[in-house]
Amino acid sequence: MVAGPCAAESKQQVLSTAEKLASVVKRTGARLIYRAGLWKPRTSPHSFQGVGEEGLTWLQETVQLTNLPVATEVSTPEQVHMALHARIPYLWLGARTCANPIAVQELADVIRQSNYCPEGVLIKNPVNEDAHLWLGNIERMESVGVPVIAVHRGCNHRPCWRMAYQLRQLRADIPLLLDPSHMSGERAMVPLLANKAAALHYDGWMIEVHPTPEQALSDSRQQITPDELEHLISDLKNFSDEKEALDNTPIELRWLRAEIDEIDDTLWTAIAERMDIVRHIGEVKQQNHLDAYQPNRYQAMLAQRMEWADKNGLPREAVRSILDVIHDASVSLQH
Ligand code: PEP
Ligand code: MN
Repeated sequence: MVAGPCAAESKQQVLSTAEKLASVVKRTGARLIYRAGLWKPRTSPHSFQGVGEEGLTWLQETVQLTNLPVATEVSTPEQVHMALHARIPYLWLGARTCANPIAVQELADVIRQSNYCPEGVLIKNPVNEDAHLWLGNIERMESVGVPVIAVHRGCNHRPCWRMAYQLRQLRADIPLLLDPSHMSGERAMVPLLANKAAALHYDGWMIEVHPTPEQALSDSRQQITPDELEHLISDLKNFSDEKEALDNTPIELRWLRAEIDEIDDTLWTAIAERMDIVRHIGEVKQQNHLDAYQPNRYQAMLAQRMEWADKNGLPREAVRSILDVIHDASVSLQH
């Protein structure tokens, strides 16, 4: 388990959260790396950017106080340099950094030249869905002799199970963690996704934990409290002991079903978006005194959808039936 706040916000917050997690470790026996981001790669320049270098001493004090190994995110050669100089044992590369293999190579080069080798580098999947880019980044880090752990965090709040399964098939030897916090962006989803990862035989989790999530300076909607993490760890233990013993679904089938569920989710989301536009079109038609059913438009759509059916190797009749169901529903919505 890699757990801790999205961002280090103050010395007090870093140390008190670590102490709470150290007692969770005592009570549950979990193996835990304490995470806290010092340099935050944020979407907006107006958001909290992290406390930066100052927080390195807070992480060092955390190690002394709790004996937990610590991890922080690095995205520039300068940050790697500072983190290694401070003997931070675990570094992680964020999804934005991992979209750029040249940036990852530069970070690997700093590790190669350093006289301190970290105990591990955690590599998130890139923000774009690309298992080979993820693997390439892993190989760049491996080539400097540092142990690597892959972290699956999805893209744009979509799990992208297929990408993780591809990585698993290409490199079953690399430990794979799930980051349900960034995958969903919602704390209610964290336990569900964490359990799903257990069913898919992930090797662990990266979960954002904050003493007062609502007041967090970043990612406040997805962080959970140390108490909630403790409950989750107990659940996950029950999962492996009980449910897993009863479930004989082959692992490959579990992955494929996760992919199907995700595709259906995107299908239904797309249909809902389509219906929103249909409603808007209904208003425009009314303003212009046009009928809801427009035969010429329907024929043109049908011809184009048939071409798409052929292009994708789908049976024309089935595609036509699906189009008709959607079109009928759309026309009745506009009446
Ligand atoms: C993080 O772990 O705090 C983080 C920034 O994650 P990601 O790179 O996955 O967005
Ligand atoms: Mn975060």
